[in-house]
Order: sequence, then C-alpha cells, then structure tokens
Amino acid sequence: MSTISATGLIKRFDGTTVLNGVDIEVAQGEVVAIIGPSGSGKSTLLRCLAGLELLDGGSLQIAGVEAAQSPPLARALKGRVGFVFQSFNLFPHRTVLQNVAEAPIIVRGEARRSAEARARALLDKVGLGARIDAYPAELSGGQQQRCAIARALAMDPEVILFDEPTSALDPELVGEVLAVIRELAEERRTMLIVTHQMDFARDVADRTIFMDAGVIVEQAPSRALFGAPKEERTRRFLGKVA
Ligand code: ADP
Ligand code: MG
Repeated sequence: MSTISATGLIKRFDGTTVLNGVDIEVAQGEVVAIIGPSGSGKSTLLRCLAGLELLDGGSLQIAGVEAAQSPPLARALKGRVGFVFQSFNLFPHRTVLQNVAEAPIIVRGEARRSAEARARALLDKVGLGARIDAYPAELSGGQQQRCAIARALAMDPEVILFDEPTSALDPELVGEVLAVIRELAEERRTMLIVTHQMDFARDVADRTIFMDAGVIVEQAPSRALFGAPKEERTRRFLGKVA
C-alpha cells in the first residue's frame, strides 16, 4: 500500500521550473532518504507533498488524500502528514509540553488531560521528559529538534517529512536527533527524509533518491545507491560529499 503516490509533479517559481516531472512512490512503513545538491528542489518537493505549495502539474495522493483540491490540501492533510523543519519552528511562547500537546487539542479537539498525558509520553521517548516546562529558547538545538519530532508524532501522522532535520545543529548535537529518527525507522514509521548525512541515509533508509535540477536522477535501495551508483551525476555528487 502506498502512503505517497505522485506522478509528474511540476512546480515553477516565477517561470523557473523547480520540479520538472517528479514521480515518487512511498509505501507504508518505508523509510526513504532524499539527497542532492543545494537548489535541486528537495525542500520544494517536500513542501508540495505536504500541501504547503500549489502544484503546477502532476497528480498526488498522500495519506489517503487526493491533491486535486489544491489550496485546501494542507488543511485536509493536517495531522495526517507530519513535517519537521530544519529550523525547528517551535512556538516560542509555549512550553515544550504545550508545543507537543497543542495540535491534538486545537486541531483534533482532544481533551487537554489526555493530550498532555500523551505529550509527556512522547517527550519521554525523545529524551525530554525532564524539560517539559522549559521554553524553546532554553533548550539546545538538538533538544528543540527532538521536541519538534515529538510534536509531529503527537498527531500520529501517516507519514513524517523531514527537511534536513540536523542541518542547523552544531555537529555534537546531530547524533542525538539522528538516534531518535533511527528509532522511529525501527518502528517502521513511514518517513521521507531530506538529509546531507550520507552515512545515516545509507544505514537507516530502505531506499535513497538522488535529485538534481528538479528531477529524480536515480533511486535504489540505499546500499546499492551508495555502493554502486549507476548515473554519472550521482557518482559525481557522492564523490564530492564523501
Ligand atoms: P533544495 O531544498 O534542494 O536546496 P529548494 O527546493 O529549496 O532546493 O529550491 C529549489 C529552487 O527553487 C532554488 O533555485 C530556489 O531558489 C527556488 N525556490 C524555492 N522556493 C522558492 C520560492 N518560494 N520562490 C522562488 N524560488 C524558490
Ligand atoms: Mg532544502
């Protein structure tokens, strides 16, 4: 069963084509990494999948929702698709606990008590059980990102999209965030992860997609893509980042 099924996705900004016919299929329980040079359209692809951008072409089904109804797509997907941003995007004036409990209460109308109880459990899971009353500014970047992951999990989404979740972190904080994502992968959460952490992609993702200039150049089971890339462009990219 596919959680994401998209064909021929086109996205332009001011006449510049940023996604030039992207086909992407993600099965339930699959962990897929997306790699590629800066500006190749990785973030735009995730934003289109999440309904945060209007498509200029193609068809998209995600988490059981058909994207034909374009602008309301983000609303239709609320809670079904989690998004973890490079820059955390926590609510600065809410505590860690409130950040995690907020969406289930507001979007889903869940009772505060049960939403907070679940938020506590999720914060324990990501190692923030002792910081539930802190504000985001009082946390390290790694802690903020772990809180953002707990917040995404709070809606029990069908798929979580990660856009370079460790790129804004000091190197010594990268590992703690990757460890949380690795644990989610072991639980067979459906995830699509844009990353520059090549070792992580190879070890954790079932499949890796290489994008360049708005197209998918190559995709394969991660070990195959990193071990024996078929396309010259992929080889060049991996040679540079290795
Ligand atoms: P990546 O995440 O792979 O670095 P992006 O998806 O962020 O790439 O960007 C792909 C291209 O689209 C870049 O050339 C970028 O400048 C352009 N772009 C992205 N978002 C916008 C926007 N909102 N308006 C105009 N151009 C954009
Ligand atoms: Mg990006």
